[in-house]
Amino acid sequence: MRVNIQLECTECKRRNYSTSKNKKNTTERLELNKYCKWDKKVTLHKETKK
Ligand SMILES: [Zn+2]
Repeated sequence: MRVNIQLECTECKRRNYSTSKNKKNTTERLELNKYCKWDKKVTLHKETKK
């Protein structure tokens, strides 16, 4: 039940990370604080649809 997703930086809108999640356990959009190499700081990254 795992699906591949991409994480988009909410500041620069770049897709920096790809990961996967379990559709069954995680029905809402993922939101993770990750380091963005473009912003050179930790920003909120949200799940995007491919
Ligand atoms: Zn960014």
